[in-house]
Amino acid sequence: MNVTPDLSVVIPVYNERDNLPELIDRCLAACQKNGRDFEIILVDDGSRDGSRDLILQAADQHTEVVGVILNRNYGQHAAVFAGLEQSKGNIVVTLDADLQNPPEEIPRLVDEMDRGVDVVGTVRENRQDSLFRRTASALVNRLVRQTTGVMMHDYGCMLRAYRRPVVEAMLQCRERSTFIPILANSFAGSTAEIPVKHALRENGESKYSLFKLISLQFDLLTSMSTFPLRLLSLLGLLIAASGIGFGVLLMVLRFAYGSQWAAEGIFTLFAVLFVFIGAQFIGMGLLGEYIGRIYHDVRSRPRFFIHEIRGNSLDDCGDQPDSALYTMVASRANRQV
Ligand code: UDP
Ligand code: MG
Repeated sequence: MNVTPDLSVVIPVYNERDNLPELIDRCLAACQKNGRDFEIILVDDGSRDGSRDLILQAADQHTEVVGVILNRNYGQHAAVFAGLEQSKGNIVVTLDADLQNPPEEIPRLVDEMDRGVDVVGTVRENRQDSLFRRTASALVNRLVRQTTGVMMHDYGCMLRAYRRPVVEAMLQCRERSTFIPILANSFAGSTAEIPVKHALRENGESKYSLFKLISLQFDLLTSMSTFPLRLLSLLGLLIAASGIGFGVLLMVLRFAYGSQWAAEGIFTLFAVLFVFIGAQFIGMGLLGEYIGRIYHDVRSRPRFFIHEIRGNSLDDCGDQPDSALYTMVASRANRQV
């Protein structure tokens, strides 16, 4: 096993017995073609179909294969995290085990990384999933783009490459529910996207039931921002404003057409009710703002990552004359971050 490989490939595996032999062969071939030191980290996410033994076998057979066995099923993103934690490469590529993302695309991702970007995403050409999955995916991708302002087109595809500092940044995030592509983008200085091929799932079936899929979308939404909480306040403002508007309209019409028209004030009740409902929503939104802040703090994500520091260090300025100290302070102010 190489001590520090250049490239780590992280693959979450959950009941993929029939795909594993081909997956391992194809990954090995693709990485060998790339010509760098590499490691392939297979994370067994509590499989019950013997995938675990296959992974252990492969790890014994090939020096480049590392097997990470989780004690039970924790979910795809948790499994990828377990793999990221073990990875050592300067470039880390994640990939699904079901061969829907061809391993042959790995060198292309690495080439794209060599252009100097921090994260390379992929867009699945001729996507081979059900219409339901594709439509849901398109909707979610659009939502993410609008909320984060990060222009990536396909957040669902896990064939992605990350530079080491981005991986380290992600590993410092302590939150439990995460959606890796979005988390990575929040730490990436520059990103790129390339189109990749997408194949049908040949063996086994999707590990995502409708319920799991919905829960994943909630992970995605909440890992992205606390914007949904803010929607409560907006909704409250809207309801309260329309209640007030309605009240004013009622008053005007009441003077114009008399009390008979206003059903003896029953409509007015509605207007008053709207204002109160609106006020309640605004109150909930305010609570939401606090909860959002608590949420941000509890996750304790790193605030920033310094890319580079250049210039003299103040630490070794012990007995130097004042003027030297000044130049050091000045050079510190000019640090490149
Ligand atoms: N996976 C996992 N744990 C899970 C569910 C899925 O490690 O609880 C792995 C699975 O083995 C595969 C990848 O995550 O390598 C993507 O799963 P799948 O192909 O079922 O998802 P889909 O392509 O339907 O989005
Ligand atoms: Mg799949």
